[in-house]
Amino acid sequence: MTLVMVADPLEMFQPYAQERAAIEAAGAEFRLGDGSFAAIRDADVVLTTWTLRFPAHELQKLHRCRMVARYGVGVDNIDLAAATELGIVVANAPTYCVGEVADHTVGLILTLTRGLAWLDREVRAGRWMAVHKDDPRVPRLSLMTIGLVGLGKIGRRVAQRLAGFGCRILAYDPYLSDAEIRERGALPVASLTELLQAADLVSLHVPLTDETRRMINRTTLAQLRPGAMVVNTSRGGVIDEQALVEALQRDHLFGVALDVLDPEPIRADHPLLAMDPRRVILTPHFGAWCRASTPDLQTEIANAVTALLSGRLPPSTMNPAVQPRFGLIR
Ligand code: NAD
Repeated sequence: MTLVMVADPLEMFQPYAQERAAIEAAGAEFRLGDGSFAAIRDADVVLTTWTLRFPAHELQKLHRCRMVARYGVGVDNIDLAAATELGIVVANAPTYCVGEVADHTVGLILTLTRGLAWLDREVRAGRWMAVHKDDPRVPRLSLMTIGLVGLGKIGRRVAQRLAGFGCRILAYDPYLSDAEIRERGALPVASLTELLQAADLVSLHVPLTDETRRMINRTTLAQLRPGAMVVNTSRGGVIDEQALVEALQRDHLFGVALDVLDPEPIRADHPLLAMDPRRVILTPHFGAWCRASTPDLQTEIANAVTALLSGRLPPSTMNPAVQPRFGLIR
């Protein structure tokens, strides 16, 4: 019997009712692993949350595995090239949280530009009028140029939401045509450099790949306008954090708002934690979370598995070039 296993089960998904029902209805067995690779060695389909990484040498040991599906959007915890070479399909849950991440991004932009988290702290500390005299450098949002890096499912929703604030929205996404960028509500730029030089605030919405790893680094940070801001709800690895800290310390950047860091959770002695809370906003990789998104996530994973079990390549396949090792209909 085909065996589907969750490699690294989490309490939040218990009792895995949707996945179990869909998989058993398809005639397969559904079982929970224990966080070890040994337990999933004979699985035909492996589901993973976010506590395990799947490097090439672990994928090679999964001799029966036809698919690894990740509970989430980013699949940067799986060696995609190695999976493709081995004929293992990699799938994700592409849409369950895109609205929430866009909302969270706009929330971070407002928190940073309006000083919301800092104002709350000041009021609680008994300072009501004092904050008005202290220059918090509040910009007028409608006069700002916001640069979006990556205009996929999340980036485009951020653009839609920001349109309501009247700001100018630029986007850099080399995988989209200028016409597609305009259709998604932004003005195209020719290069990342052009975007960085023009934006008052840059918001990152790219997957973490070899190409995007540390794309915000010492060199690209220097291209930002003095006083610019950076918001990141994509992956911590997209930013060189040391360079970011230095840019804040030199006052080249006004502020940053980060939902993702590398590594996570943030270490207790991270310099960002000691910085001015007006200028550094941190949230704990919370962008995707809301009461409705978790069941949607489980449905998307169940759908990917049932597609595969019925002999089809799941629509959410992240390595479409894969030649599935035991054959599938495309
Ligand atoms: P998506 O695949 O729909 O969009 C990503 C966009 O980035 C695409 O349009 C792609 O062309 C573009 N891109 C790729 N490489 C690029 C590059 N070098 N420069 C500029 N653009 C580039 O993905 P999405 O649903 O919008 O999600 C984006 C990322 O957000 C995910 O990969 C994930 O890492 C992250 N994410 C975070 C959370 C959270 O809780 N904070 C939740 C979901 C997703």
